[in-house]
Amino acid sequence: MPEGPEIRLAADEVARALLPWQTTAVEFAFPALRRFEKRLRGRRVTDVATRGKAILTHFDNGLVIYSHNQLYGRWYVEKRGHYPETGRQLRLAIHNDRYSALLYSASEIDVLKASELHHHPFLARLGPDLLNESPGIDTIVERLDSARFRKRQLAGLLLDQGFLAGLGNYLRAEILTRAGLHPSMKPGQCSEAQLRRLARQIISLTRRSYRTRGIINPPALVTRLKQQGLTAREQHRFNTYGRAGQPCHFCGAEIECSVMGGRKMYYCPGCQPAPCF
Ligand SMILES: [Zn+2]
Repeated sequence: MPEGPEIRLAADEVARALLPWQTTAVEFAFPALRRFEKRLRGRRVTDVATRGKAILTHFDNGLVIYSHNQLYGRWYVEKRGHYPETGRQLRLAIHNDRYSALLYSASEIDVLKASELHHHPFLARLGPDLLNESPGIDTIVERLDSARFRKRQLAGLLLDQGFLAGLGNYLRAEILTRAGLHPSMKPGQCSEAQLRRLARQIISLTRRSYRTRGIINPPALVTRLKQQGLTAREQHRFNTYGRAGQPCHFCGAEIECSVMGGRKMYYCPGCQPAPCF
């Protein structure tokens, strides 16, 4: 499942194709939405925003197309009139004279008024989006330390889109390793310094993933690993995620994997010692 950075990159690509030009046609596969096709034709797209894993395509008449890719949804940007070879179902097409932004397979698509977005059931429960609203260290520490979140295990908390929107499984693993925190720890058990370090890693690794298209290891480490012959992307992008049984690049301990909350949790027992409470 794509995480915040991948969704933001898809939104950037859609924005580059749609923002400069007037929309010439919008087509919905879902019959209930077809009544909006006429109202969106000839309008301009003013913003393509992300909220966690949802994309909000804003038009200049105050209407917004909400789309959530779920597991299989995927955007393609093509020259006008071209369609990708895919077995997926086309669900939404936004055309201008030059390009078509095509959304395949997404099952959640809606048209809302910009003024109603905060009532939407999915959007209303989302925490601040790490790449759209860019909360700072103080805001994140405040949330970690709040009565609502401080008693939750970090493993589950970091995946909760109501805490912060945009983190998924691979970012969670890498963030906790770099913050030096065991996944079973709770914010209420952490020192102020640990919370600040966690907040800093949440921000910097999410931004790095966006900038590098998913390479989470620090640039100097990536260079060193490539020099050692690990040139394939999958060989140098992560330290922790998906590397059970292999040595941690930072401390040499063997990465471990356990199932927490029904999902695989990778961690480094060297960098992330179990708490002794
Ligand atoms: Zn380690």
